[in-house]
Amino acid sequence: SVLSGRHFSAAAIPAPNTQPEVHYNKLFINNEWHDAVSGKTFPTINPTTGEIICHVAEADRADVEKAVKAAQNAFKLGSPWRRMDASHRGLLLSRLADAIERDVLTAILYVFTWWFMGRYLCLCILFVFRYYAGWADKWEGKTIPIDGNFFCYTRHEPIGVCGQIIPWNFPLLMQAWKLGPALATGNTVVMKVAEQTPLTALYVASLIKEVGFPEGVVNILSGMGPTAGAAIASHMDIDKVAFTGSTEVGHLIQQASGSSNLKKVTLELGGKSPNIILSDANLEDAVEQSHFALFFNQGQCCCAGSRTFVQADIYDEFVERSVVRANRRVVGNPFDLKTEQGPQIDEEQFNKILGYIGSGKREGAKLMCGGGVAADKGYFIQPTVFGNVQDNMTIAQEEIFGPVMQILKFETLEEVVSRANDTKYGLAAAVFTKDIDKAHYVSNTLRAGTVWVNCYDVFGAQAPFGGYKASGNGRELGEYGLDNYTEVKTLKLQIKHSILQITISKVLK
Ligand code: NAD
Repeated sequence: SVLSGRHFSAAAIPAPNTQPEVHYNKLFINNEWHDAVSGKTFPTINPTTGEIICHVAEADRADVEKAVKAAQNAFKLGSPWRRMDASHRGLLLSRLADAIERDVLTAILYVFTWWFMGRYLCLCILFVFRYYAGWADKWEGKTIPIDGNFFCYTRHEPIGVCGQIIPWNFPLLMQAWKLGPALATGNTVVMKVAEQTPLTALYVASLIKEVGFPEGVVNILSGMGPTAGAAIASHMDIDKVAFTGSTEVGHLIQQASGSSNLKKVTLELGGKSPNIILSDANLEDAVEQSHFALFFNQGQCCCAGSRTFVQADIYDEFVERSVVRANRRVVGNPFDLKTEQGPQIDEEQFNKILGYIGSGKREGAKLMCGGGVAADKGYFIQPTVFGNVQDNMTIAQEEIFGPVMQILKFETLEEVVSRANDTKYGLAAAVFTKDIDKAHYVSNTLRAGTVWVNCYDVFGAQAPFGGYKASGNGRELGEYGLDNYTEVKTLKLQIKHSILQITISKVLK
């Protein structure tokens, strides 16, 4: 498989717990569990069956208020968190990774296929926490030689109370991407998790308390976007908001910041990423990687390679092989080890994706395989491939977020780069070729935050990820990710008795 070359040990992954218990379904504020102030709850649904797993507390503005107060108290000068050595913050993050490694495989993980979650994603989550644990005491300022008799240096200080709003498609990973850098740099957090996937994040909340983070440093709320999410985005006492989700909601977050306290905003938004296959590419590998690029996580991936551009002389064979591969894809129960594709997250997404498949057919794309529902219950969709896709079709322009592949034909490099860039998005891209000059030409001219060459969806906690254009601003992961959570303070100290002064006064005498 595409992932098999990476550092996985299948043997180290315990068997899935197919009957996980729900441990935590309340709001986590100040290291305590709370019902919502309104008393409201909402159901969380198992997408494999469409049945309710349990009800979860529904946070609203009043709960955001409580969480912000807790986060403000935790950030006060002299608080245990502010007095804590940076190395100790790192230690707490390390301990959190250990606790997740110990427990997370027994938590509620309906969203992912076991294969995917067990062998890949869990490790990514741990890598992120451990990576940022290492940064906690290494995020240094600079000494800067300015003109005159001054000692000038910078300090990297935490921003303060950070609102973090995350999506459902990688619930634990998005939580790790947000908490890791925010906590390493000493901020406090009010996080709202997606309403579709609250349970894993709340489980991690219990581990945050267990490993010893002081009260109020991390507060985790389950609730709806337009209520709890909007309350965070417009809150006057939240100093920064980090959002991952749709470009549409990204606009609202930015506006809410503008009309409240101008809090700092970082956005990780949607994409319609081009995946470009040149005719000299290793075809077998390009077909497999392009399949992975699109179908990974049921197609619910912000950086999905959702416009597959194939050079004309290999186009027919590429389409044919992609159809064979899609037909071979195993769809089914996410707890079955053989399953490659589980259900879509919910009924809304399921219907939206079926709508896009309908629009592809209506607008004249050629349905090569799939196109329908894959089970009588739950939200399963057949792996679907469209050929003869044109740039102006809706399926080539909008983010489908499902297992639907669009294959487009191109002739020249200049043409494909211009068409690939002709989108409001700029999150990711890929090029498959054996020619290093062409690889550089294409990757340097693409307007995207990440370009993969002869691979796809390769992530490392060490390397930044984020979007050009309407795919967002700021970068997560790596050293760059720390900038999002840091205020830079410049200090200039006058030096009265410097060597320079002494020398000058001697000369003048
Ligand atoms: P979404 O924008 O609907 O929701 C994301 C989060 O925002 C949820 O927690 C939701 O409750 C909240 N929200 C919704 N309305 C809000 C409002 N008015 N104010 C404040 N918060 C609000 O997105 P989604 O459907 O959950 O996730 C899918 C989207 O996320 C896709 O577009 C995908 O590309 C994007 N995504 C991007 C990245 C990235 O790193 N760039 C990663 C994952 C997902």
